Amino acid sequence: PTISPAPVNKHEEVMERALRPKLLDEYVGQAKAREQLEIFIGAAKKRGEALDHVLLFGPPGLGKTTLSHIIAAELGVNLRQTSGPVLEKPKDLAALLTNLEANDVLFIDEIHRLSPVVEEILYPALEDFQIDIMIGEGPAARSIKLDLQPFTLVGATTRAGMLTNPLRDRFGIVARLEFYNTEELARIVKRSAGLLGAPIDAEGAQEVANRSRGTPRIANRLLRRVRDYADVKGDGTITQDIAQKALSMLDVDPRGFDVMDRKLLEAVVHRFDGGPVGVDNIAASIGEDAGTIEDVIEPYLIQQGYLQRTPRGRIATKAAYQHLGLVVPQTEGH
Ligand code: ADP
Repeated sequence: PTISPAPVNKHEEVMERALRPKLLDEYVGQAKAREQLEIFIGAAKKRGEALDHVLLFGPPGLGKTTLSHIIAAELGVNLRQTSGPVLEKPKDLAALLTNLEANDVLFIDEIHRLSPVVEEILYPALEDFQIDIMIGEGPAARSIKLDLQPFTLVGATTRAGMLTNPLRDRFGIVARLEFYNTEELARIVKRSAGLLGAPIDAEGAQEVANRSRGTPRIANRLLRRVRDYADVKGDGTITQDIAQKALSMLDVDPRGFDVMDRKLLEAVVHRFDGGPVGVDNIAASIGEDAGTIEDVIEPYLIQQGYLQRTPRGRIATKAAYQHLGLVVPQTEGH
């Protein structure tokens, strides 16, 4: 069973939608982003204006899509949703933009993957609510300016560093989403269990939270698996014991690390003497894409202090050796 943070299939997407908080008050954690948005949304509503463009960044599964829906709901406007790779041609984006109503939200997921020609269309749209479109072909082709309704772009990306400068400069509000602590995750797990009609006790929720890699999407995913286990092997109630057994069956260890996390730490320790080692070498060694390592796997290992990012490459920390049950080498740097 994969526990990669991206939704795995349609079925899971349907479940996710059902578990998504609808308003800012139900959105757990992310106090900083929430407070910012509350103020700016309130101000925009008071003036009857479009909210400034918002950039949300952070690892997958932390609630960027959820937050974009909440922004539209709090503003009381429509949300149109698309993603960078889906917008292949300028006219794809132009069609979306010209159909927006006043103050609507346009959500572009994976905005760092917009093609340069599409991005070009976006600049005047963001700045002046205007687009230039080409009419006709060949020598008769000419460009005309179209006025758009004022709107809010909400862009989401796993890596803010991959955005071009001119694009990044056009966002008035930039919010970085952080990994959730276990208290926040336990609240999310309890809320989701309630929505799913799955009985869970406090210790059961805590156990699922502890093993969720700081990520609500993973918390919800593990909850569903644990619930299956409770139904088949127990009396349906999710207790700590049931959660522990179900999660070790899924190869999620007590720190929440999955197979890929352990593979990465083992590679750095055993094949590269603890590092420093570059991401590309790690990627080749564990058979994983370098981008996935940077976006999905290592942010949590770094945040938890198992891996260090240095200019010369990644280094396994003492905690990594201890987690793998190894003796910590007494060399400098560890
Ligand atoms: P992203 O767009 O960052 O990949 P999503 O917004 O799709 O993440 O969130 C994944 C799932 O996690 C959603 O189904 C939602 O139920 C849950 N979730 C995310 N953030 C929160 C939060 N702050 N509070 C409660 N549930 C959340």
